[in-house]
Amino acid sequence: MADTHDEKTPDNPAVGMMSGLSKPKRPQEFYDQIKEKFAEERDLRLGYRPEGTAQYTSDLTGAFARYEIDPFAEKIPPREPINDTVEVLFIGGGFSALLTSARLRERGVESIRIVERGGDVGGTWYWNRYPGVACDVVAYDYLPLLDETGYVPTRHYARGNEIFSYCQLIAERYNLYDLAVFQTTVTSTVWNEEEQMWHLETDRGDHMKARFVICANGTLSKPKLSKIKGMETFKGHSFHTSRWDYDYTGADLSKLKDKVVGIIGTGATAVQAIPELGQNAKELYVFQRTPSSIDIRDDWETDPEWAKRLKPGWQSKRREKAKMVGVMTPEQQARYAAIPREEKIRRQENANIDAMMRIHKRIEETVKDKETAESLKPWYMLMCKRPCFHNEYLPTFNLPNVHLVDTHGKGITEITEKGPVFEGKQYELDVLIYATGFEVQKTGIYNRIVGEGGRDLNEKYAEGIRTMLGIHTEGYPNLFIMGGYQASFQFNLTDMLQAQGDHIAVCIDYARRNGYHALDVTPESEEWWVQEVVAHRGKTSRNQDCTPGYYNFEGEFQRRQDGNYNGGFNAYCRHLVEVGENMEKHFAFSKKD
Ligand code: NDP
Repeated sequence: MADTHDEKTPDNPAVGMMSGLSKPKRPQEFYDQIKEKFAEERDLRLGYRPEGTAQYTSDLTGAFARYEIDPFAEKIPPREPINDTVEVLFIGGGFSALLTSARLRERGVESIRIVERGGDVGGTWYWNRYPGVACDVVAYDYLPLLDETGYVPTRHYARGNEIFSYCQLIAERYNLYDLAVFQTTVTSTVWNEEEQMWHLETDRGDHMKARFVICANGTLSKPKLSKIKGMETFKGHSFHTSRWDYDYTGADLSKLKDKVVGIIGTGATAVQAIPELGQNAKELYVFQRTPSSIDIRDDWETDPEWAKRLKPGWQSKRREKAKMVGVMTPEQQARYAAIPREEKIRRQENANIDAMMRIHKRIEETVKDKETAESLKPWYMLMCKRPCFHNEYLPTFNLPNVHLVDTHGKGITEITEKGPVFEGKQYELDVLIYATGFEVQKTGIYNRIVGEGGRDLNEKYAEGIRTMLGIHTEGYPNLFIMGGYQASFQFNLTDMLQAQGDHIAVCIDYARRNGYHALDVTPESEEWWVQEVVAHRGKTSRNQDCTPGYYNFEGEFQRRQDGNYNGGFNAYCRHLVEVGENMEKHFAFSKKD
């Protein structure tokens, strides 16, 4: 799961709300009724789509292949296949690779290669260039390595293009372009036991070798489409938000001024794109299945005077401070411990409902048409879906050219050559934009990973995911996984990735300094972590109670071990440090003959 509602950061509206210490503001009957409504809305959706995640396809081949084509890269220039050896190879060139590379460079690792599907570094920020794209996490926290690069973000919330440029800046600063290869997909990663090296093959005919391989391929990078009857028959133009077609829309969307535009989906991506589309399209139809929660976005330009006053190391201090938010004082802990479990859950839920009612009120105050306002109200616990922050999204529905088509949880189930159909009504469109999200990835997207004894990682995971810290998996020496299952999760993802990247650099450095060639987590340490993950999952029924979405695998059953570590980010970081300080306890090392 790529995002979770278990963590609390300053940007996370759940701060304090979930502590269970606050007292309810309304009579209990009120909360009970709202909970009933939440359950009804969830059941409605589960009833429409019992197939769970199978309602989507990310097999973008054949008629759907065009939805995955990179519109940003130049035509692939021919190159000779690469047949060489590097010390560290990253599969993927997003933040995971960039911030880990920085740590490796600091430790003197010179031979680092990034292999990336896109035409540049940046990952999410390379692909997602839809109008309005920005990050919902405060830029001073989100952009990594600000202490090291000396860069100060231009806004409180950075826009996508600034983040993408910053990724390029990091790659330049740490000389990561030298060995990088773009427009190249790793298709297999096989451990050669004799050579004690990873052998990687790509879709460009390369055969690369690497001592250390880091799976840095992100968690939400493969676009997915809702499987809708007749979608391939649509005669108008269509694309996915992560492959925005600016040739069609114009860089400033001015080419949409005589176009009827439709957008399917109202998740975090759509919430950012819809205000821009509303301003520029002749007509805009928003096909909504479940509304997002839209909170205030407190944005501003960085004050240059503030930036000048920043002292070296300011970001690290800020991050450390952020980790302490929501941490209870000993007195609070004692008070908390004294509350019976049922009561704690009840208070948390009530506080959550209060927060959601505040979101509802904002809708009522902003959206003029009563029916539209009602349709835009989310009926689920806050954080069941990714919370959104926007000041123009709700007012967009007051524009005369913007039409909300509320499908009441059913979604669009039919598309003809003219466009979507809902309740017998045909919506004739010039262009249809799919804001239907991304496949939640298990390790090794596009890529077959084969470890010791010829064992495919998918085969190992089929019996339940087994890792230590979500990073190491036994039988796959010198392989590191970033942002995967059994790791912790943070609303500020780069915080988590930095913690993992720092740890990976510690491991590689330890092996190099001690003359070891390879390290593999011991079966005991792997088992310890699997049990840690299991112990911290499923303490409440919150996931099952939530409306379906990618956060809860569309309501599908999950093994307790097949998800995130829910013991909290601070505890996760402590475990990373403990493992780093006790390498001989947790790993088996081997020297090369
Ligand atoms: P999501 O998976 O969050 O949203 C997909 C949307 O498509 C949902 O609203 C879903 O409805 C809807 N949908 C699917 N099928 C249909 C259908 N047949 N008819 C109508 N609607 C349909 O994808 P996003 O791209 O919006 O976001 C993915 C993630 O990317 C976010 O959760 C977040 O983690 C990240 N992101 C972060 C941003 C940031 O600011 N940091 C900005 C943008 C994205 P339903 O809800 O009913 O399933």
